[in-house]
Amino acid sequence: MRLCRFNEGRLGVVNGTILRDVTAALDVLPNCRYPFPSHDVLIEQLDRVRERASALADRASSVPLDRATLLSPVASPGKIVAAPLNYRKHLDEVRDDAALHQNNPARAQTVQTAGLFLKATSSLVGPGEGVVIRDTDRRTDHEVELAVVIGRRANRVSRQDAMAHVAGYAIGLDISVRGPEDRSFRKSPDSYSVLGPWLVTADEVPDPGSLDLRIEVNGETRQQSNTRLMILSVAELIELASSMYTLHPGDVIFTGTPEGVSPLVPGDAIVATISRIGTMSVTVNNGT
Ligand code: MN
Repeated sequence: MRLCRFNEGRLGVVNGTILRDVTAALDVLPNCRYPFPSHDVLIEQLDRVRERASALADRASSVPLDRATLLSPVASPGKIVAAPLNYRKHLDEVRDDAALHQNNPARAQTVQTAGLFLKATSSLVGPGEGVVIRDTDRRTDHEVELAVVIGRRANRVSRQDAMAHVAGYAIGLDISVRGPEDRSFRKSPDSYSVLGPWLVTADEVPDPGSLDLRIEVNGETRQQSNTRLMILSVAELIELASSMYTLHPGDVIFTGTPEGVSPLVPGDAIVATISRIGTMSVTVNNGT
């Protein structure tokens, strides 16, 4: 199932070029009282939501996808985990480019050495909201990535058991200011984590390790690769992340970007595609 959030927090099931408005399926969610859960309740209850959404979809009103403003398919992730340098050729381009490694090639460490980093959850938007460049004086790059949404609590999970903890997948854009600061600082401005266009449930992606991914800017292909070239697989990333902290339903893992990162400027039009997931269009706007 392809589950999207759109307009003012509505829920949709995507079918071809339309979506069915199944917002009423949210009624299966528990009423929460303060202190609210710090994980995403919809993803935690995804099986119940899917069942209700399926029952509602046939009689639900339809909306053309190109008329909907798509939001992040996960509303409230507890954390956004991200892998640095998880493709060999991207590691090479960082080592070879002083603008990327900040005159310190030793910064170009593999994901096994560097570990994972976190992006602020306040940086999360959907494709319909767009990227707003925080500071046009700083180089700000696109990074297209497979994004994994955790479905079940995972603590010290082995790679063999990891995939049972995945709810589904989406396209992630890890928008990144280049510079000497810590990754979490450079990659956390508002709108610098784009997730969309929808959540594709894990049953529709039997092998996340064989997906073509691509990003075009103004019609020009900038990055094109396949997830089989990831250094650590999805299962290994879950093992690594959950070795250090518990992953909760709705937590998102950005799995790293392939070679071809390049700067964005206000006015750019992004089109990002991952096979079996879909295509999303994202505009780049000026925030200064
Ligand atoms: Mn990245």
